[in-house]
Amino acid sequence: PLVLGIETSCDETGVGIVRGHTLLADALASSVDEHARFGGVVPEVASRAHLEAIVPTMRRALDEAGVTLADIDAIAVTAGPGLAGALLVGVAAAKGYALAAEKPIYGVNHLAAHVAVDTLEHGPLPERSIALLVSGGHSSLLEVDDLANGVTPLGATIDDAAGEAFDKVARLLGMPFPGGPPIDRAARDGDRDAIAFPRGLTAPKDLERHRYDFSFSGLKTAVARWVEARERAGEPVPVADVAAAFQEAVCDVLTAKAIDACRERGIETLVIGGGVAANSRLRALAEERCAKYGIVVRAPRPKLCTDNGAMVAALGAHLVASGVAPSRLDLPADSAMPLTIVSV
Ligand code: ATP
Ligand code: MG
Ligand code: FE
Repeated sequence: PLVLGIETSCDETGVGIVRGHTLLADALASSVDEHARFGGVVPEVASRAHLEAIVPTMRRALDEAGVTLADIDAIAVTAGPGLAGALLVGVAAAKGYALAAEKPIYGVNHLAAHVAVDTLEHGPLPERSIALLVSGGHSSLLEVDDLANGVTPLGATIDDAAGEAFDKVARLLGMPFPGGPPIDRAARDGDRDAIAFPRGLTAPKDLERHRYDFSFSGLKTAVARWVEARERAGEPVPVADVAAAFQEAVCDVLTAKAIDACRERGIETLVIGGGVAANSRLRALAEERCAKYGIVVRAPRPKLCTDNGAMVAALGAHLVASGVAPSRLDLPADSAMPLTIVSV
């Protein structure tokens, strides 16, 4: 099916068009620069930016794919989770286009879309896989059988998301928002073994109750204390080493727990999705460790890891192909949409 996907859950306005597993267009407008000086996304600013960007982004996507709205089989839109006012812009636009062009509409889960996007890169998901979903607001391990039937959460962060930890640590190192990319870059020149930062929820006692859960707030505090101690002592902060050691602590725990989940369940495919899946060390370490156990790692190209419209279209195309019924035209935006609900 030819499916158009609209994404407005945070600060990217995305419109993607796919035919089955083939990506035809991925138009993106970001308001990230408008938020940078606040050190985080400002909801009102994001909503307003979506409102200005949605129609031109839609037009760009259709042009890029060389199709018209009349050619489209279905429109998918992120219904949640995300910023309420931001979601509303995408959902309202999708309804308008669906109504005007008489097309079915699918209100889909943004997090499931972060997993589905990998099908544009590597084709259909196998019968069973483990998904490591690591983004700005979420960090979860999921078992995925068929995305159309939902996902089974195995564990999640009990405090900060992995991306949030990158953003906070970047801030205390004086790097711009979002912090993932500058930390990834700085870490290349650093020594990841220079500082032993804590690995959250990996002690035997923690594993009893939190086998597949994550915790990154203690790590963030440990980095802050380490940097403060240096500054108090009047010594320079070795930014590249701090970045590399912090990044290693995050990637070590994420990959170790993901592999445990695969091995315990006899699953041979690990899919990595969400903005943090763009991290070069996470990708390399996952490859290196999974190879030892015969586990295949699938991660979309970095540009498809962070928010975009193509991921929404990819999930929509899978739902259409699976015969899932469309949403009602009055579908709600749900800022707290649970991970277990794939479409509304
Ligand atoms: P969610 O998907 O949970 O609603 P979101 O949509 O805001 O959150 P994404 O766009 O999926 O988040 O991811 C953004 C996050 O990814 C940010 O926290 C950013 O710092 C992080 N990120 C992006 N690139 C990298 C990278 N190379 N290394 C580490 N983190 C990264
Ligand atoms: Mg973003
Ligand atoms: Fe996201």
